[in-house]
Amino acid sequence: MRAIFLAGAGSLALAGAAMVHSAQSPAQAPQTTPGVPAAASPQAGAAAQVASPFGAQTQRSGLNIVVLDPAHGGTDPGARGTGGIRESEIVLDLATQVRRALELAGFQVVLTRQGNENPSFDDRSAIANAQRGAVFVTLHISSTGLPGTVRVYVNSDLPAVTETNGLIPWDRAQAPFLGLSRKLGDLVQGMLVQRFKGSPDTALTAGVRQLRTTAAPAIAVEISSIVVEDRAELDRMGPGVADAIAHGAAAFKPLYVVANVPRALP
Ligand SMILES: [Zn+2]
Repeated sequence: MRAIFLAGAGSLALAGAAMVHSAQSPAQAPQTTPGVPAAASPQAGAAAQVASPFGAQTQRSGLNIVVLDPAHGGTDPGARGTGGIRESEIVLDLATQVRRALELAGFQVVLTRQGNENPSFDDRSAIANAQRGAVFVTLHISSTGLPGTVRVYVNSDLPAVTETNGLIPWDRAQAPFLGLSRKLGDLVQGMLVQRFKGSPDTALTAGVRQLRTTAAPAIAVEISSIVVEDRAELDRMGPGVADAIAHGAAAFKPLYVVANVPRALP
């Protein structure tokens, strides 16, 4: 059975949950300046003192990496518009813009695909699960919804992880991260609604296959919609979506504490 080693993942989740509960609301929270290391925050400073088995090089705990997933690709074009618009192509272009915004905010970005390939769900999750201090963002264009709006989804509740030997099944990898995913999702959605009126105020919940196998705070960002007259309407949303994701991730950074990092078993 494919499984992920989650040594200390319980303490990661608990630390995250405690942070979420005790954290100030985004309005009261100290502003996170893009590019300023998380070590500037007291939470991250405390986390940095946690002993790491991975040596001094990785002592710097906290969120540093965003794994960005342009969904679909290859033989899977995703949603298709009447004008021949393909979701797989638009999200790839969008990912370039999001990547740039995230890098400007001080994040390292890892893409799950660079071109028109179609990695499997598991391949994409495996990229995220191999990172230390990462969040995962999958990008979609929907075929429904009010054009010009954007929704963030987090995975719905998964069966509790009861294993005590540090292993959890691959298909429940998201379970220990749901609370953190919700926090990240709400922060990004809050940034999106400021830029795209009519979008929800908080993240929605759904059974998202891609997120279920991801052992990191993970969200899906879905833009409405593929049913536009021409793709320029969607392209015009790119900079706002990129900016919202970068600001949301930056706001999330002080809440993310890596006590112990999940390790994917080969
Ligand atoms: Zn899609």
